[in-house]
Amino acid sequence: MGKLRQAFEKNDVQKDFLGRLFSSPIVRGFYKNENPAVDVGLVGSKYEQRRMTALINKIANSSPMGREILEDAAKAGFSFGFERQSSSYGFCDAEHKTIRLNPRTSDAQLVATLAHEARHAQQHTRGVPTKFCTFDVATELKLRRATEADAQASAVQVALEIRAATKDDSVWKAFAKTNEKIARNIEEPDKLKPLDAVVADRDATMRDAFKGWFKNTGMIDNYERGYLYTHLAHAGSLYDPAKLADYFAEKPFEGSKSSAEIVATVCMNGDGKSYFANDPHILDREPEMCGLCKETRNMADAFFREREKVTGKPADTSYKGLPSRGTLFGQMMMNLMLMPREIKTPTDRKAPTPALTAALNRLRQGR
Ligand SMILES: [Zn+2]
Repeated sequence: MGKLRQAFEKNDVQKDFLGRLFSSPIVRGFYKNENPAVDVGLVGSKYEQRRMTALINKIANSSPMGREILEDAAKAGFSFGFERQSSSYGFCDAEHKTIRLNPRTSDAQLVATLAHEARHAQQHTRGVPTKFCTFDVATELKLRRATEADAQASAVQVALEIRAATKDDSVWKAFAKTNEKIARNIEEPDKLKPLDAVVADRDATMRDAFKGWFKNTGMIDNYERGYLYTHLAHAGSLYDPAKLADYFAEKPFEGSKSSAEIVATVCMNGDGKSYFANDPHILDREPEMCGLCKETRNMADAFFREREKVTGKPADTSYKGLPSRGTLFGQMMMNLMLMPREIKTPTDRKAPTPALTAALNRLRQGR
């Protein structure tokens, strides 16, 4: 399946004429023919590569943190390119080492998106597994949220460093417009604050931005549903015992990372220190960070009861003591409107309710 997907991706990148049009001089004007400041594999047409180079150089020539993130992604072998997406600005596929940006999106937004997606690549090389349901439920819940909050915190810092270095605030403005709750949660530096001072405040800014991500409960619902609930629910649609046993093997839900270990791995900066070094238990504090909804809890109970019956493996009890954070489907349709592209569950062809299945499928097909 991996190979097949790769083949499709290659085709998409090489033959998507409409996608290429969005990066062509007709739509974007001319980009300079310059070398990328970071030695990374670029895919796509000549104009797409020039456009990507402009985005890379905007980051690498102005933001010390951004440069480091891009260099790490390049060293890890990620390629950068464009791919049309219906509901997101970009994605990072760590399994195939690809970062793809949506060509229809503005350059200002894509600069922040590139920093965000390259940060996911960096998280992966630092030990965050890409396969969902690797760890026990409590770990998965906190880990997937933390990786997204950290990627957004990184985009914030990069955008503010670019603004300080160039006095061009377009990247920061584009980010703040689409992520109001995060932007409101940070102490926005004065526009004239020099780059050195913005860099010196990095950890404080990233802490606030990280916490700001958790203010958007609709987004947290989407992540809980996409990364956890649908994977648990899928077992209920498998009636063939052999397929069910395979599924349980594929989604081990085993092994645990403490909140402090998650934070130490995910919330790390270039100096090898966590920006939450003084607050390592941050993830244990609020239900938005460590809690789960009623439906997820019930689905987990059912999943592990069935797994014990089929495989004899003892049930995961990691989530039993976690706080509750209400119901998952209370505002489902509202939240689906905000569903990020990164939530993709390629193995889950059947979801728990027809409405959710249809909505998820629409989002996937729109890629
Ligand atoms: Zn992300």
